[in-house]
Amino acid sequence: MHAVSGMPEEGEAAAEAAVKPVVAVVGRPNVGKSSLVNRIIGRREAVVEDVPGVTRDRVAYDASWQAAEFTLVDTGGWETSVSGLAAMVARQAEYAAQTADVILFVVDATVGITDADEAVTRVLRATNRPVVLAANKVDGELQEADALVLWNLGVGEPFPISALHGRGTGDLLDAVVASFPEVPQAESADEEGGPRRIALVGRPNVGKSSLLNRLAGEDRVVVDEVAGTTRDAVDELIELGGETWKFIDTAGIRRRFRNLQGADYYATVRTSSALDRAEVAVVLMDVSEPLAEQDIRVVEQVVESGRALVLAFNKWDTLDEERRYYLEKEIDRQLSRVSWAPRVNISAKTGRHVEKLVPALETGLASWDTRIPTGRLNSWLKELVAATPPPVRGGKQPKILFATQASARPPHFVLFTTGFLEDNYRRFVERRLREDFGFEGSPVKLSMRIRD
Ligand code: GDP
Repeated sequence: MHAVSGMPEEGEAAAEAAVKPVVAVVGRPNVGKSSLVNRIIGRREAVVEDVPGVTRDRVAYDASWQAAEFTLVDTGGWETSVSGLAAMVARQAEYAAQTADVILFVVDATVGITDADEAVTRVLRATNRPVVLAANKVDGELQEADALVLWNLGVGEPFPISALHGRGTGDLLDAVVASFPEVPQAESADEEGGPRRIALVGRPNVGKSSLLNRLAGEDRVVVDEVAGTTRDAVDELIELGGETWKFIDTAGIRRRFRNLQGADYYATVRTSSALDRAEVAVVLMDVSEPLAEQDIRVVEQVVESGRALVLAFNKWDTLDEERRYYLEKEIDRQLSRVSWAPRVNISAKTGRHVEKLVPALETGLASWDTRIPTGRLNSWLKELVAATPPPVRGGKQPKILFATQASARPPHFVLFTTGFLEDNYRRFVERRLREDFGFEGSPVKLSMRIRD
């Protein structure tokens, strides 16, 4: 017997293609990086979050241009400790090159090329990231000629812009978007509308059919034949708490395979195909017996599938004091990894607390759907990292530069770092995410993106 362990993706450094392109704005202080950032994000987040003096608390934002969505990163706050302006700006550019897909290099056209600009250029030339050069403070035609001088940097065409007035930023953004890498669309069929989809799973005999019959009762409205899937998978629409829910493969739940050879195998396969099509899983367990290895395996299957999770303890009518004592021990010991999952104690036989399933399902699904805006996520992260920086590893302190939420359903966060983060630290980040944002009833994925 073993406890539920191992979140999917833990230990994986690479985030999949679901991450939006990252655009990092680099350049020496006062060239107008923050103004440009505000211009690009339309001050959407800035209005709410930018208080004078704390602008630099926010490093990453959600942004879009035409149909393209991306994460916009202001590198202004990084590595203020490095002595010397040019060194500091060069270091920022280095980090930017490590984490971004495109670098937006801002130069003040009214000043011309400075040592710091040249330091940035050297760093950028050494990377293979596309660079888009913004010649800022070109507020009118008179300054257009200033921009031309910036060809001398040797990083391509300078786009004359005025971050303050918005002049020229459209062409600049066209160039930025044009240099995005191809992003395969990773969204799955999860986005389809209609009733929310529940997989009722659990090892044989825990009471799945009984619960289904209890729930369906008089209210069973439609039996929905699914064409083209498992030959005889049948979903059922059941109204609960004033809402219609789709229970996946109810035929599979009701079928009796108990004494057949291969019943366990069949159950595992059924569980996995039901999970594929579900958004949330109810794992039913039988409290009249000790929790079994098979119960834990089903819970693990759900966590790995990335579906929302509700734990339902059935046959509560059979419980006496002694069994209850041991049950609590078993739950503590074996289900601690999913302590975030809502629990309901029910009896399919008597109907006890069965109505509590609905709020638990709703909680799990709401968490599963959650998206945290990039600006908010990063102000939270900045505080977290300031209070508890990642531990030094091999003599180096890995820096977490910023984070984005790559996808929802379930929430998947990507930390952009300069080095490897220990498992312990990532678990700490996940725990704090849960403490501060909730996610009750949903797995949360956390991965890192490190580039060299
Ligand atoms: P399934 O294999 O998970 O679908 O389990 P079933 O629904 O067939 O139930 C297995 C056995 O447990 C049957 O004998 C049920 O009558 C019994 N059972 C189901 N729910 C309860 C319950 O809440 N209390 C009690 N005492 N027995 C139950």
